[in-house]
Amino acid sequence: MLRLGTRLCFRHGRRSIATTIDGKAIAATVRTEVADESVALQKKYGATGIPGLAVVLVGARPDSATYVNMKEKASAECGFHSVKKVLPDDVDEDELHAVVQALNDDARIDGILVQLPLPEHVNQKRILEAISVEKDVDGFHPYNMGGLARSGEELRQRRDGSTFSYRVAANNACTPLGCIELLDRSGVDLNGADVVVLGRSNIVGLPVSMMLLHRNATVTMCHSRTKDLQSKVAAADVIIAAIGIPEFVKGEWVKPGATVIDVGVNFKDAPERKSGKKMCGDVDFAAAAEHCGAITPVPGGVGPMTIAMLMRNTIENAKRRLGEKCEEERVCAREKERERERKRERV
Ligand code: NAP
Repeated sequence: MLRLGTRLCFRHGRRSIATTIDGKAIAATVRTEVADESVALQKKYGATGIPGLAVVLVGARPDSATYVNMKEKASAECGFHSVKKVLPDDVDEDELHAVVQALNDDARIDGILVQLPLPEHVNQKRILEAISVEKDVDGFHPYNMGGLARSGEELRQRRDGSTFSYRVAANNACTPLGCIELLDRSGVDLNGADVVVLGRSNIVGLPVSMMLLHRNATVTMCHSRTKDLQSKVAAADVIIAAIGIPEFVKGEWVKPGATVIDVGVNFKDAPERKSGKKMCGDVDFAAAAEHCGAITPVPGGVGPMTIAMLMRNTIENAKRRLGEKCEEERVCAREKERERERKRERV
């Protein structure tokens, strides 16, 4: 479904109309779809059909607590069985490990999320690797990351020119999935598109680059050592910005008509506000909106999609457990239909 809004931008006396990709609305649509599927599973299977999501929170960081509450709220909205484990900041690593193991063994749980960051004394890698691959709704387990990378093999082996879903691995990271979903539902054709990804983290930049590659985009990955980053951005049909520097990407860098997905969550000074701070992305929104075709706002763009895709991953795991048809098959079918359309247009 196409969910685009328009926003008027005023800057230096000039006025332009940019299309705003409304992540809040798209995320609400995804959550509604998940909730509908959740009702259907419960109708068909009774209590065993209820998808279960467990969130583990260590310590009392206010930002982590807020994220966990948002996840709990979305989980309830989707009709999931929701479990929250709260452990103290000085938790023993083995105790945390045991909590994860118990959730692995709990048949009512389809997704386990350990809220990051963990306290410094905890070996984060060990805890994330303890989550069972089938329940790793954050997609950070090396098996799931590797599965995403290797899925390119299947694409390259195809000789018919068709593309395929980015959901080929069981659980993929939620924020990158959210970026692709935003592009998909905004009707952006990634086939052959020049895409620049700013940032190469395991959480965003790296997985989203692989997903884009599997969608037949030509991907340029940029990072802190990239030379002449501006000219790379200027050549891109699609820009995914995930570096964590407020308004780093300037409006004039952006190619006319390009699509901008801004993952950054930063704060800049805003003396006019009571808090003295204002949330902003990695892209100068107002300036970029004068050039680009479509852009996600911050807040209200990628952020809500991350939680929506967490809900999607959880229900997909439940469907796999129940032997139901999964989303990737539907996305594949949709992609194949698009491919057929493109071929018809070429003839
Ligand atoms: P990260 O782990 O700190 O990675 C930042 C990346 O940006 C690194 O690859 C780094 O390059 C690159 N970078 C830093 N300075 C740069 C520069 N001057 N030029 C080019 N590249 C530069 O961050 P992350 O976890 O990926 O998060 C990135 C942003 O997305 C943050 O603002 C974060 O809050 C936000 N985020 C949002 C969501 C959401 O749900 N909306 C989820 C996750 C993250 P090197 O590799 O060379 O160091």
